[in-house]
Formats: sequence, structure tokens, C-alpha cells
Amino acid sequence: MGRGMANPGLRVFSRFWRSREMYLGMAQMITTQQEEHLVKAAQAVRRNSYAPYSGYRVGAAVLGESGRVYTGVNVENASYGLAVCAERVAIWKAVSEGERHILAVAVATEDGSTPCGACRQVMAEFGDADMLVLVCDGKSLLRRFSMGELLPAAFTGENLTRVNPGGAL
Ligand SMILES: [Zn+2]
Repeated sequence: MGRGMANPGLRVFSRFWRSREMYLGMAQMITTQQEEHLVKAAQAVRRNSYAPYSGYRVGAAVLGESGRVYTGVNVENASYGLAVCAERVAIWKAVSEGERHILAVAVATEDGSTPCGACRQVMAEFGDADMLVLVCDGKSLLRRFSMGELLPAAFTGENLTRVNPGGAL
């Protein structure tokens, strides 16, 4: 499946599908089953969160272009500044397994918070502006965003190649 293309065979024309399509416009198409799987995976992995200092437990799940799902949790440290968020752990797991393009991210917290700024920047490295971001609490999917909504006018590798066309990219 190429970048930004939905597999018509995977489409499920439920009213939920239509509402997502209407809401997100040109957004990446993922199936209702994929969306539900991502949300459940993010909520389930939250139990592995290592957050002895903040007590703020976060789980994340990302869907790679290959169709595989990778999960992550926040991992804190006694040296506070070394803490890393669940979204970045999940994305780094995906990238280290060979993924280079992420289609959707789900993040589950106690209160349904959105990803922090650092994670938004990392998400923008591997997801297009229409990548789907699912924000959940421990029980439900609460909100859907596109990557572009969460990080408009993002700084990306394109900025670098504009200045240095012969660069590493
Ligand atoms: Zn973060």
C-alpha cells in the first residue's frame, strides 16, 4: 500500500467510517477495526507505564505503513529530565523495526490529554499532516485529530532540503 492510499478492500462503510471521513476530509484512511485495535492497544499497554514519580500513566500505539502496530509507555527516571513519553517510545520501536511512515497514533491517559509538544514534533517526522491522532482516556476514544491540527506549520526535513538540496535527505 503506497503512501496516503487506502486499501479499498479494507474499507468498512459504517456510519462511523463516514463520520470520520467527513471530519478528516483528506485524512489517511484506516478501518474502524484498525482504529479500535489501536485504541485498545494504547489503553492496555498503559498498565506497563513506569511513572513512579508523576503517577501519570500513559500508553500509546502506532500503526505503521506495513500494517503492524507498535506500543509504548512513558518511562520516567530518578533524574527527571530523562523521562520519555509513551508516544516517542512507540514511534522509536516502530522505526527501529523498519517503519518509516506512520499512519495513525493512539494515546491513552487518565484524563484524555493530547500529546506534548516534543511528541508532536517526533510524530510529524514520520506522519503526514493528515495522519490520524486518536486521543483516549482509560475507557473511551474521546477525540480525533489530524497531525496538521496538532502541529500546524511544522518544521520538517523539507525545510532542510530547501536550504541544502544536496543534504543527507
Ligand atoms: Zn510527549
